[in-house]
Amino acid sequence: MNLQSFGAAQTVTGSMHLLTLGGRQLLVDCGLFQGGDDLEARNREAFSFEPAGLDAVLLTHAHLDHVGRLPLLVKRGFRGAVYCTAPTAALAETVLLDSARLQVEGYRHDLRRARRQGVPDEQVPPPLYEEEDVHRALALLRPVLTFGETTVVAGVRVTPQRAGHILGSAYLVLDTPDGRLIMSGDLGNRESGLQLDFTPPPPADAIVLESTYANRTHRAWPDTLAEFSAALRASMRQGGKILIPSFAIERTQTILHTLKELMDSGEVPRLPVFLDSPMAARATHEYFEFGDELVPPVRDALQAGEDPFRPGTLHVVNTSAESQRINRYDGPAIILAGNGMMTGGRIQHHLKHHLWKPGTSLIIVSYQSPSSLGGRIVGGADTVRILGEEVAVRAQVHTIGGFSAHADQDDLLAFLEAAGQPHVWLVHGENEVMAEFLPVLAARGLKGDIVPDRQVVDLTGTGFPNGTPPGFHIETRDRAAQTAGGE
Ligand SMILES: [Zn+2]
Repeated sequence: MNLQSFGAAQTVTGSMHLLTLGGRQLLVDCGLFQGGDDLEARNREAFSFEPAGLDAVLLTHAHLDHVGRLPLLVKRGFRGAVYCTAPTAALAETVLLDSARLQVEGYRHDLRRARRQGVPDEQVPPPLYEEEDVHRALALLRPVLTFGETTVVAGVRVTPQRAGHILGSAYLVLDTPDGRLIMSGDLGNRESGLQLDFTPPPPADAIVLESTYANRTHRAWPDTLAEFSAALRASMRQGGKILIPSFAIERTQTILHTLKELMDSGEVPRLPVFLDSPMAARATHEYFEFGDELVPPVRDALQAGEDPFRPGTLHVVNTSAESQRINRYDGPAIILAGNGMMTGGRIQHHLKHHLWKPGTSLIIVSYQSPSSLGGRIVGGADTVRILGEEVAVRAQVHTIGGFSAHADQDDLLAFLEAAGQPHVWLVHGENEVMAEFLPVLAARGLKGDIVPDRQVVDLTGTGFPNGTPPGFHIETRDRAAQTAGGE
């Protein structure tokens, strides 16, 4: 059994893992690289495998860095089935349509600039994909994966389990002739606000494990809430705008829910809240649709017909003209806008208008890749380039780490403990973080390795100390029936 990672190997975005099992090729996730030009240039590279030769694709969850290259895979020849949970399919539609829109807008912007500079149109890279490519990809989605139930995908028994990371997120238990492999996808923070905890995994021989926060421990949830409300109150005293860059899925709903709770309890004064992210507003509909998946207080509120994601002062901003008008709104307000790492989206024009003002507060509630705009601000840059202009960083910057939707070290170790003595293959982490985690694994008697970028790893050779699980068998079904819409 071979693993070859074409993304999220020694970095945290672009998740794409090719598994070769008994002659079958399964791709787990097909994500976009995000966070800086060097990484994003990799999105344009040719796939190192033949898309049409894949037997199937499995998606762990709908974040862009796990699904964002799916339309490109289809554009380049993949015609098979893409398996995921129902919430993942619903969210993937929102995520991918938004991604195509950004691709096309980016292309038009680059084209106008190139023309002004006398550069021929052909030298401007075209969009990676457009809306019609997204619709072709969406047509291949098979939202049949259900937590705890086994589905045979291209002859391999796949059992998704709750990952507790975002709505619909799963880790995948694959039973193969060589043993049991777990692909973790992204695992949740067991203290995060909306998702139920991940299901403890069964004993496994090998785990391909995300390690975003493998070297740290998140603050306890009550401390995070206290820290957030203190940052809000301090920001309100500054009197300026309070900018909260936020990912559209999960983080925005968590922040909206938290703001509602803090304002309803009187913990923080009521201020206008602008949700300036049409994508987040759309994604929030799916939280209503799949409300049974959420923690009991939120689920119960939804069942009672309440809206747990709506602080009383919420204004949902739709058009970009409305978005521009917020900048003329005088007085303090909270502006929640995407994207989370500030590498694009409406947050950029709010940053351009307010980051240089000492009265502004920037409250960071999401992971910032070191090379992203957000990463540079957190790193202490005096000025940053935003929308073609140098902007001074004079705002008060607050970083609240505890909202993370990712497992911390304690969560990862708890997950591994349930899995017995698996060989641990680390992905989805920065190198320094993974290097710090290896000795922690060793101290617990676990073998661990960092998955190298793009190289073939023989998981069987080193990774299956427990042997083949009893009762394992490979299904021999007609491959054609399983791809091309056969199921
Ligand atoms: Zn994720």
